[in-house]
Amino acid sequence: MKTKLAVDGGIPVRQTMLPYGRQWIDEDDITAVTAVLRSDWLTTGPNVPEFETAFAGFVGAREAVAVSNGTAALHAAMHALGIGPGDEVIVPVMTFAASANCVVYQGGTPVFADVQADTLLIDPDDVAAKITARTKAIVAVDYAGQPCDYERLHTLARQHGLKLVADACHAIGGAYREMPVGTLADLSTFSLHPVKHITTGEGGVITTHDDEMARRMRVFRNHGITTDHRQRAEQGAWFYEMVELGYNYRLTDFQCALGLSQLRKLPGWVARRQAIARTYDAAFAGLTAVAPLTTRPEVSHAYHLYVVRFDLSQLTVDRNTLFQALRAEGMGVNLHYIPVHLHPFYRQRLGTRPGLCPAAEAAYAEIMSLPIFPQMSDEDVQDVITAVSKIVTAYLN
Ligand SMILES: *Cc1c(COP(=O)(O)O)cnc(C)c1O
Repeated sequence: MKTKLAVDGGIPVRQTMLPYGRQWIDEDDITAVTAVLRSDWLTTGPNVPEFETAFAGFVGAREAVAVSNGTAALHAAMHALGIGPGDEVIVPVMTFAASANCVVYQGGTPVFADVQADTLLIDPDDVAAKITARTKAIVAVDYAGQPCDYERLHTLARQHGLKLVADACHAIGGAYREMPVGTLADLSTFSLHPVKHITTGEGGVITTHDDEMARRMRVFRNHGITTDHRQRAEQGAWFYEMVELGYNYRLTDFQCALGLSQLRKLPGWVARRQAIARTYDAAFAGLTAVAPLTTRPEVSHAYHLYVVRFDLSQLTVDRNTLFQALRAEGMGVNLHYIPVHLHPFYRQRLGTRPGLCPAAEAAYAEIMSLPIFPQMSDEDVQDVITAVSKIVTAYLN
């Protein structure tokens, strides 16, 4: 029997909206932050290097550099690689605009690559086709939390003398062939925005095995000045020099204290995300019109997002109607992403248009991100399954 959809005046599965992602702040976090608020250092204090060391330790990288947000992390990565005017950087289109914007900040040109239809990860064949004499780097986005095909990307990078950046904003806690995310590229960038795995309000991190690049990024986040305020205070010195153009991309000390506290809970949270994903996978296996994205066997998926693709040939409505119907049921579904090359900025600046990345464009018409975050109860998870089943059944043709 078909039940009346909430969008048609029926009773919604939930009375309150279940968001697609949400931070989890507990008393430990609040205690950690308030302790710093009572201390001498609100910014650039002892919690910054402590957080950096803990973060580097978590992912198994030599260095972690904390910055003010994930976009600043990408910008610092482009700076560390020396990207500038005339340089091309290959970026997949199924991502947040910042993955490409960071190239533009440095005066370089993003060159858009398509994604693989089953995973929505950057397509190494399309990367290979887009390498030119000007190409300097590839940005690999671990979309939804699944690590990209790093073996093939590294082979391409080696063959053509390119640097590899992992935009790992979705993927902390994941792994590729047993190697943790954060160690899979020359530079890996992370975001600490509240919808991501762990949060500092706003925040970002870059991890690397390269000491020199880490040093360059620490200068870059501090206006291009070689010593920070605390180092000068300790030395009783006032002299400093600005050696290159940098920005104020620092992360505050109380944010780093929050980051330290959040990091301790991360392994359990990743496991919870993976458990929710397994429950969804099992439930949607029975719905032919709903297909979760493919997870490759050689990865551990960190599930920042749980993305499904609707088979519109089996349904009477389009994705936008499905979206509105799920919202009406109290599901805070979302859409990740409008392919970057379709944004007006890039259409005007680079002349990009529909047809450039057919796999991403086709996926865009059919995908949706379902709620997934560690604090979701089993009941919340069942509500999502109930709502998706209800909608799909009602619109089956
Ligand atoms: C969140 C995100 C960013 C930007 O991070 P902010 O901290 O919001 O600046 C960049 N790339 C991807 C893939 C992201 O998901």
